[in-house]
Amino acid sequence: MQAIGIRKGRKEAELFSLPEPKISRPDEVLLEMASVGVCLTDKDIIENSLVDSPPGEDRLIIGHEAVGRVAGVGKAVRWLKKGDYASIIARHGCNICQPCKTGRSDYCETGLYTSSGQHKRHGFNMEYYVESESYLVKVPDKLADVAALVEPFSIIEKALEQIEHIQGRIPTYRLEKRKALVFGMGSVGMAAIATLRARGIETHVLGRRGPEDIKVKLVKEMGAKYINIREKNVIDIRKEHGTFDIIIEATGATQMVIDLIEIMGRNGIYVFLGIPKGAEELCFNIKGMINKLVRQNLVICGSVNSQRPHFEAAITDMAAIQKKYNNVLNRIITERYNIKDYKKAFAPDEGEGHIKAVIEYKKV
Ligand SMILES: [Zn+2]
Ligand SMILES: [Zn+2]
Repeated sequence: MQAIGIRKGRKEAELFSLPEPKISRPDEVLLEMASVGVCLTDKDIIENSLVDSPPGEDRLIIGHEAVGRVAGVGKAVRWLKKGDYASIIARHGCNICQPCKTGRSDYCETGLYTSSGQHKRHGFNMEYYVESESYLVKVPDKLADVAALVEPFSIIEKALEQIEHIQGRIPTYRLEKRKALVFGMGSVGMAAIATLRARGIETHVLGRRGPEDIKVKLVKEMGAKYINIREKNVIDIRKEHGTFDIIIEATGATQMVIDLIEIMGRNGIYVFLGIPKGAEELCFNIKGMINKLVRQNLVICGSVNSQRPHFEAAITDMAAIQKKYNNVLNRIITERYNIKDYKKAFAPDEGEGHIKAVIEYKKV
């Protein structure tokens, strides 16, 4: 079978020919891959040769956002059957710490986890994949064609879970009554906007695109307010739109990301999802920030990875989003590539109108 990966020391993806995997343990499931999302993380791995292979190997198969169709099951598989669609959880726990032992390796305390397509474990860009049932989440047939988005949506569910836990310290806190700001319109940003809107939360979105851009149109279609920051700084934003109870950042940090601390509302929470890239130094008036944090009970936190509860919540919310916003998820997937066009799929430049690309292995 064919697989897409990268060799150590290289800066380009390659097609590899691998033997088809076989079920070797009773809890395992054989998946025939349907589609795998192309993510900025994959492009970062390729462009910067961040090849963190499984031990003893010199290449890494990439891809960590996938849906496949069950083609075979081991004897001990309990709830998946042939023909079902399933999304795959990428991170495998360390099996040492308590969070990992209880299925919450997103909070791994040792850092000894592995992660498919990123960290010491092969990813999902292959025609067939074998995985233990405990890392698979059943996807209803009607979502199968967009289920490569379950993983990016699950990242938002994890962030919302953190927000609800942390803000639960405030008496009578209700997420639905709060005002949110999302910075970033990549697939995770769009997932944040869609999920917040589907839950009825007032949502503002920051971006640098003009009103005719497809992302801006989708954002407005979902009832979010769009603010073009080409024309505005945070002081202007505060004057026109006030402050925000929840800020979700999904861009990869830039100076603007830091400036947004200025427009956190009282008792507000700011969740960082992006990782700063490049050499730009980020500046903030730390004294002013501590003053604001203390006087206004602010929380600034990071959120990484997602596990079964978040995949399940993402599937529930995605079904509601499809219904409420006229199958918008099908329009968030803007390109579907055949495996032989993998070079185009992983090219650094993205064309006009691009939001999310997937490699389509088998049509749903
Ligand atoms: Zn990703
Ligand atoms: Zn752990």
